[in-house]
Amino acid sequence: MARVNVVLFDLDDTLLDYSGEAARCWSEACATVAGPAGVDADALRGAIRDVGAWFWSDPERHRRERTDMLGAWRKIVEGALERCGGLRDGLAARVAADFAARRRATWSLFPDAVPALQRLRARGVALGLVTNGDAGMQREKIARWDLARFFDVVVIEGEFGCGKPDARVFRHALDVLGASPRDAWMVGDHLVWDVLGAQQVGVRAAWLDRPRQGLPSDALAVPDRILDSLTDLTTLE
Ligand SMILES: [Mg+2]
Repeated sequence: MARVNVVLFDLDDTLLDYSGEAARCWSEACATVAGPAGVDADALRGAIRDVGAWFWSDPERHRRERTDMLGAWRKIVEGALERCGGLRDGLAARVAADFAARRRATWSLFPDAVPALQRLRARGVALGLVTNGDAGMQREKIARWDLARFFDVVVIEGEFGCGKPDARVFRHALDVLGASPRDAWMVGDHLVWDVLGAQQVGVRAAWLDRPRQGLPSDALAVPDRILDSLTDLTTLE
C-alpha cells in the first residue's frame, strides 16, 4: 500500500473553528458598542452583513486586506456606519476592536484536530501548516494552541509575502520538507486556496466539508478526496 509522506494543513476552519461564531460576535459588538453610541444596532448589523459580503467578494481586495484583519474589520464597519448614517469619530474602530476580542474568545480547535495531527506524527508523516492571512493573528493562534510542535514547516501569507492559491506557497513548503508533490496531500476547507492551489502544483487535495454541503455545482476544482472530518486521514494514501 502506498503511503502518504507529507500532509499540508490549512488552519482556519480546518484545524481551528475560526468562523463558526462570527455572526454572533458581530451582533454582540453592534449591540454592546454601537447601540449605546446611538446607532440602531440591528440596522448596523444588517449593513455589516452586506458591506462584508461586498468587501470580501473581490479576490484582489480579499488578498490585499486579509493580512490586516483588524484594519479590514474596521473598514467594513466604517462602510456599514456610513450606510446607517452613524459614522463618527472612532466608533468603527471601537466596534471592530470589540468584535475582534469576541472572535478571539470564541476561537477553538476542532476536537478532531490534535488527535489527527498526533496520529500522523506517530506514523512518521511530515506535516506542514499553510495558512493565509494576518501574520500576527495566525502566530497568535499557533502559539495559543501550541500548534508549532506538530509542524515541520509553517507558511503564513503575512510573513511569506504571498498566499494560497499561489504556487510559490506550496512549492516553498515542499522545498523545506524536501518532498515531491506526489508524496503530499493538502487538507483544507477552501476549494480555490486549498484544493485548486495544491492541485496546480501536483499535490493531491482533500477538501474538508465539515458542514457536509457537498461540492457546489460551479466548483472551480474537483478535490481528490472529500472529508467531513479529520478523524480518518488514514484514507489518504
Ligand atoms: Mg480555511
